[in-house]
Amino acid sequence: MSQTDPLTADLERLLTAARAARERAYAPYSRFLVGAAVLDDQGRVHAGCNVENAAYPQGVCAEAGALSAMVLAGSTHVRALVVVGAGPAWVTPCGGCRQKLREFAAPDTPVIVANEVEVQARFTLAQLLPQSFGPEHLERA
Ligand SMILES: [Zn+2]
Repeated sequence: MSQTDPLTADLERLLTAARAARERAYAPYSRFLVGAAVLDDQGRVHAGCNVENAAYPQGVCAEAGALSAMVLAGSTHVRALVVVGAGPAWVTPCGGCRQKLREFAAPDTPVIVANEVEVQARFTLAQLLPQSFGPEHLERA
């Protein structure tokens, strides 16, 4: 972790994990393969891939799988998320996954979008999910 960019040292690990996860995606219906990886507060990387279902709404996004793996490993803090799709169009997290990420990530958490060969875009969670609702709202209630 460098002082200037907290992700410099970890970005390659996240990209590698997300790209490998993408290759394991189960997407026989859309053939739209997605991989994701999260960096937790202990510096560990957890990956996920999209898993479709014949009953379409039961499919699970790659980001949700990565978050589940992180929680299973004992962490509830995301320091960064990478999502990997294919081609020139940015594969940003869907609305549901932005909210899922919000449960475990601060507004300034980096969300990085990449494809097979390059990083395409970088956002913060707050840019993707402005004025969001999160766990602290329930703590104040
Ligand atoms: Zn999603």
